[in-house]
Amino acid sequence: MNFLEERIVKDGVVKEGDVLKVDAFLNHQMDIDLFNEMGKEWKRRFTGKNINKILTVEASGIGIACIVAQHFNCPVVFAKKSKSINIDGEMYVADVESFTHKTKNQVIVSKKFLTEDDHVLLIDDFLANGCALQGLIQIVHAAGGTVEGIGIAVEKGFQTGGRIIRNLGYQLESLAIVESMNAETGEIVFRQQNA
Ligand code: 5GP
Repeated sequence: MNFLEERIVKDGVVKEGDVLKVDAFLNHQMDIDLFNEMGKEWKRRFTGKNINKILTVEASGIGIACIVAQHFNCPVVFAKKSKSINIDGEMYVADVESFTHKTKNQVIVSKKFLTEDDHVLLIDDFLANGCALQGLIQIVHAAGGTVEGIGIAVEKGFQTGGRIIRNLGYQLESLAIVESMNAETGEIVFRQQNA
Protein backbone atom coordinates (compact mmCIF):
# COMPACT_ATOMS: atom_id res chain seq x y z
CA MET A 1 0.00 0.00 0.00
CA ASN A 2 1.19 3.52 -0.72
CA PHE A 3 1.01 6.42 1.77
CA LEU A 4 -2.48 7.52 0.73
CA GLU A 5 -3.93 4.01 0.72
CA GLU A 6 -2.52 3.46 4.21
CA ARG A 7 -4.13 6.69 5.41
CA ILE A 8 -7.49 5.76 3.87
CA VAL A 9 -7.41 2.42 5.67
CA LYS A 10 -6.49 4.15 8.94
CA ASP A 11 -8.87 7.12 8.89
CA GLY A 12 -11.36 6.65 6.05
CA VAL A 13 -14.94 5.53 6.74
CA VAL A 14 -17.03 3.57 4.26
CA LYS A 15 -20.62 4.83 4.14
CA GLU A 16 -23.75 3.43 2.54
CA GLY A 17 -24.36 4.51 -1.04
CA ASP A 18 -20.77 4.02 -2.25
CA VAL A 19 -19.49 7.04 -0.34
CA LEU A 20 -16.05 7.03 1.25
CA LYS A 21 -15.62 9.61 4.00
CA VAL A 22 -12.15 11.05 4.21
CA ASP A 23 -13.00 14.22 6.07
CA ALA A 24 -10.43 13.53 8.82
CA PHE A 25 -7.53 14.25 6.47
CA LEU A 26 -8.61 15.23 2.96
CA ASN A 27 -11.70 17.36 2.59
CA HIS A 28 -12.72 18.84 5.94
CA GLN A 29 -9.74 18.62 8.27
CA MET A 30 -6.77 18.73 5.91
CA ASP A 31 -3.40 17.03 6.46
CA ILE A 32 -0.98 19.38 4.74
CA ASP A 33 2.00 17.02 5.04
CA LEU A 34 -0.06 14.42 3.24
CA PHE A 35 -1.00 16.94 0.52
CA ASN A 36 2.69 17.71 0.17
CA GLU A 37 3.48 14.01 -0.37
CA MET A 38 0.70 13.91 -2.97
CA GLY A 39 2.25 16.91 -4.72
CA LYS A 40 5.65 15.20 -4.80
CA GLU A 41 4.13 12.04 -6.24
CA TRP A 42 2.20 13.86 -8.98
CA LYS A 43 5.29 15.86 -9.85
CA ARG A 44 7.09 12.54 -10.34
CA ARG A 45 4.26 10.99 -12.36
CA PHE A 46 3.96 14.04 -14.61
CA THR A 47 7.70 14.44 -15.18
CA GLY A 48 8.40 16.06 -18.54
CA LYS A 49 4.95 17.63 -18.83
CA ASN A 50 4.92 21.31 -19.45
CA ILE A 51 2.35 22.43 -16.85
CA ASN A 52 1.78 26.13 -16.21
CA LYS A 53 -1.58 26.08 -14.42
CA ILE A 54 -3.59 23.92 -12.06
CA LEU A 55 -7.36 23.85 -12.35
CA THR A 56 -9.63 22.42 -9.69
CA VAL A 57 -13.21 22.85 -8.54
CA GLU A 58 -14.50 24.31 -5.30
CA ALA A 59 -14.59 23.43 -2.54
CA SER A 60 -12.63 20.34 -1.61
CA GLY A 61 -10.16 20.45 -4.49
CA ILE A 62 -8.79 23.84 -3.52
CA GLY A 63 -6.70 22.91 -0.49
CA ILE A 64 -5.06 20.00 -2.28
CA ALA A 65 -4.42 22.03 -5.43
CA CYS A 66 -2.72 24.85 -3.51
CA ILE A 67 -0.19 22.57 -1.84
CA VAL A 68 0.37 20.60 -5.04
CA ALA A 69 0.98 23.83 -6.97
CA GLN A 70 4.09 24.46 -4.89
CA HIS A 71 5.64 21.47 -6.65
CA PHE A 72 4.73 22.81 -10.09
CA ASN A 73 5.46 26.49 -9.33
CA CYS A 74 2.29 27.64 -10.99
CA PRO A 75 -0.98 29.37 -10.09
CA VAL A 76 -4.18 27.57 -9.12
CA VAL A 77 -7.54 28.45 -10.63
CA PHE A 78 -10.66 26.95 -9.13
CA ALA A 79 -13.94 26.62 -10.98
CA LYS A 80 -16.70 28.23 -8.94
CA LYS A 81 -19.99 26.47 -8.44
CA SER A 82 -22.92 28.63 -9.34
CA LYS A 83 -26.64 28.05 -9.36
CA SER A 84 -27.39 31.40 -10.95
CA ILE A 85 -27.35 31.73 -14.72
CA ASN A 86 -26.13 35.31 -14.99
CA ILE A 87 -23.54 34.45 -17.58
CA ASP A 88 -22.23 37.66 -19.03
CA GLY A 89 -19.90 36.33 -21.70
CA GLU A 90 -16.89 36.76 -19.46
CA MET A 91 -17.05 33.20 -18.15
CA TYR A 92 -16.52 29.67 -19.37
CA VAL A 93 -19.39 27.50 -18.14
CA ALA A 94 -20.01 23.76 -17.79
CA ASP A 95 -22.82 21.73 -16.24
CA VAL A 96 -21.78 19.35 -13.47
CA GLU A 97 -23.91 16.87 -11.59
CA SER A 98 -22.77 16.28 -8.02
CA PHE A 99 -22.35 12.60 -7.11
CA THR A 100 -22.53 13.25 -3.35
CA HIS A 101 -25.30 15.85 -3.34
CA LYS A 102 -27.27 14.64 -6.38
CA THR A 103 -27.67 18.23 -7.53
CA LYS A 104 -26.90 19.96 -10.81
CA ASN A 105 -24.58 22.92 -10.72
CA GLN A 106 -22.86 25.07 -13.22
CA VAL A 107 -19.15 25.54 -12.78
CA ILE A 108 -17.66 28.74 -14.09
CA VAL A 109 -14.18 30.10 -14.72
CA SER A 110 -13.41 33.65 -15.73
CA LYS A 111 -12.02 33.99 -19.26
CA LYS A 112 -9.27 36.13 -17.72
CA PHE A 113 -7.70 33.14 -15.99
CA LEU A 114 -7.67 30.46 -18.68
CA THR A 115 -6.40 30.93 -22.23
CA GLU A 116 -5.02 29.03 -25.21
CA ASP A 117 -1.54 29.44 -23.72
CA ASP A 118 -2.41 27.30 -20.73
CA HIS A 119 -1.11 23.75 -20.22
CA VAL A 120 -3.30 22.57 -17.42
CA LEU A 121 -3.10 19.93 -14.71
CA LEU A 122 -6.56 19.11 -13.36
CA ILE A 123 -6.65 18.20 -9.67
CA ASP A 124 -9.54 16.89 -7.58
CA ASP A 125 -10.11 14.92 -4.41
CA PHE A 126 -12.42 12.22 -5.82
CA LEU A 127 -13.29 10.61 -9.10
CA ALA A 128 -16.63 8.79 -9.16
CA ASN A 129 -18.63 9.04 -12.38
CA GLY A 130 -16.35 11.67 -13.88
CA CYS A 131 -18.90 14.42 -14.21
CA ALA A 132 -16.83 17.03 -12.37
CA LEU A 133 -13.73 16.22 -14.46
CA GLN A 134 -15.62 16.31 -17.73
CA GLY A 135 -16.86 19.78 -16.81
CA LEU A 136 -13.30 20.95 -16.15
CA ILE A 137 -12.04 19.39 -19.39
CA GLN A 138 -14.82 21.13 -21.30
CA ILE A 139 -13.82 24.47 -19.79
CA VAL A 140 -10.11 24.05 -20.68
CA HIS A 141 -11.07 23.18 -24.25
CA ALA A 142 -13.44 26.13 -24.48
CA ALA A 143 -10.49 28.33 -23.55
CA GLY A 144 -8.34 26.70 -26.25
CA GLY A 145 -5.96 25.36 -23.61
CA THR A 146 -4.43 21.89 -23.26
CA VAL A 147 -5.13 19.30 -20.57
CA GLU A 148 -1.66 17.93 -19.81
CA GLY A 149 -2.80 15.54 -17.13
CA ILE A 150 -5.25 14.78 -14.36
CA GLY A 151 -4.36 14.10 -10.73
CA ILE A 152 -6.98 12.51 -8.50
CA ALA A 153 -6.49 11.62 -4.86
CA VAL A 154 -9.10 8.86 -4.59
CA GLU A 155 -10.64 7.15 -7.59
CA LYS A 156 -13.55 4.82 -6.99
CA GLY A 157 -12.60 2.23 -9.58
CA PHE A 158 -15.97 0.51 -9.41
CA GLN A 159 -17.64 3.61 -10.82
CA THR A 160 -17.41 4.65 -14.45
CA GLY A 161 -15.38 7.88 -14.38
CA GLY A 162 -11.86 6.46 -14.56
CA ARG A 163 -12.60 4.31 -17.59
CA ILE A 164 -14.36 7.15 -19.43
CA ILE A 165 -11.51 9.61 -18.81
CA ARG A 166 -8.75 7.11 -19.72
CA ASN A 167 -10.63 6.12 -22.86
CA LEU A 168 -10.60 9.78 -23.87
CA GLY A 169 -6.80 9.48 -23.87
CA TYR A 170 -5.89 11.59 -20.86
CA GLN A 171 -3.05 10.74 -18.49
CA LEU A 172 -5.08 10.15 -15.35
CA GLU A 173 -3.02 9.54 -12.21
CA SER A 174 -5.10 8.49 -9.22
CA LEU A 175 -3.02 8.01 -6.09
CA ALA A 176 -5.47 5.50 -4.62
CA ILE A 177 -7.94 3.46 -6.66
CA VAL A 178 -10.62 1.78 -4.58
CA GLU A 179 -11.66 -1.45 -6.27
CA SER A 180 -14.35 -2.30 -3.76
CA MET A 181 -15.53 -1.22 -0.34
CA ASN A 182 -18.00 -2.58 2.14
CA ALA A 183 -20.03 -0.33 4.41
CA GLU A 184 -20.87 -3.17 6.81
CA THR A 185 -17.38 -4.51 7.41
CA GLY A 186 -15.48 -1.32 6.55
CA GLU A 187 -13.19 -3.32 4.26
CA ILE A 188 -11.53 -1.41 1.43
CA VAL A 189 -9.70 -3.13 -1.44
CA PHE A 190 -7.33 -1.12 -3.65
CA ARG A 191 -6.33 -1.73 -7.25
CA GLN A 192 -2.70 -2.73 -7.56
CA GLN A 193 -0.71 0.05 -9.24
CA ASN A 194 2.82 -0.32 -10.55
CA ALA A 195 3.61 3.38 -10.52
P1 5GP B 1 -17.94 12.66 -10.11
O1 5GP B 1 -18.22 13.94 -10.77
O2 5GP B 1 -16.66 12.00 -10.59
O3 5GP B 1 -19.10 11.70 -10.17
O4 5GP B 1 -17.77 12.95 -8.58
C1 5GP B 1 -16.65 13.66 -8.15
C2 5GP B 1 -16.99 14.61 -7.05
O5 5GP B 1 -17.94 14.07 -6.15
C3 5GP B 1 -15.75 14.93 -6.25
O6 5GP B 1 -15.35 16.24 -6.54
C4 5GP B 1 -16.16 14.75 -4.81
O7 5GP B 1 -16.32 16.02 -4.23
C5 5GP B 1 -17.47 14.04 -4.82
N1 5GP B 1 -17.41 12.62 -4.43
C6 5GP B 1 -17.69 11.56 -5.23
N2 5GP B 1 -17.61 10.42 -4.56
C7 5GP B 1 -17.26 10.73 -3.30
C8 5GP B 1 -17.03 9.94 -2.12
O8 5GP B 1 -17.13 8.69 -2.08
N3 5GP B 1 -16.66 10.62 -1.00
C9 5GP B 1 -16.53 11.96 -0.99
N4 5GP B 1 -16.16 12.53 0.16
N5 5GP B 1 -16.76 12.74 -2.08
C10 5GP B 1 -17.13 12.13 -3.22
